[in-house]
Amino acid sequence: MSFHKIKVSTSGRTDIIDITIKIKAALDKSGIAEGVCKVFVPHTTAAVTINENADPAVIKDIAMILDEKIPWDHSKYRHGEGNSAAHIKSSLIGSSVDVIVSGGDLNLGTWQSVFLCEFDGPRTRSVWVKIIKG
Ligand code: ZN
Repeated sequence: MSFHKIKVSTSGRTDIIDITIKIKAALDKSGIAEGVCKVFVPHTTAAVTINENADPAVIKDIAMILDEKIPWDHSKYRHGEGNSAAHIKSSLIGSSVDVIVSGGDLNLGTWQSVFLCEFDGPRTRSVWVKIIKG
């Protein structure tokens, strides 16, 4: 097993960043060729997802609709910190993804990348990567 901590700087309140290269670097460092790569975000107002990398409009549309459907201000929010929208988006998108490792590479689909989703930025986020041989 191999454990890596990655830092990602985000810009803007909502920001979705392709982190596949950083995860691949962690995989390369591990020397593991076959197994599973778990990617986890230890934050309550950020998330991680897998989606299309070919057309950057896809990620922009995801961010746009999340911002539209989950407004920053809502008269019924109770959370005193004022960032309930970010917490809701984080739970909807999720804290982790798994990618199969085979032949020393991340087995993503042709158009897939792993994205860190910032919902209460800008700030520096951590991404934890665990590669399990198997
Ligand atoms: Zn909060």
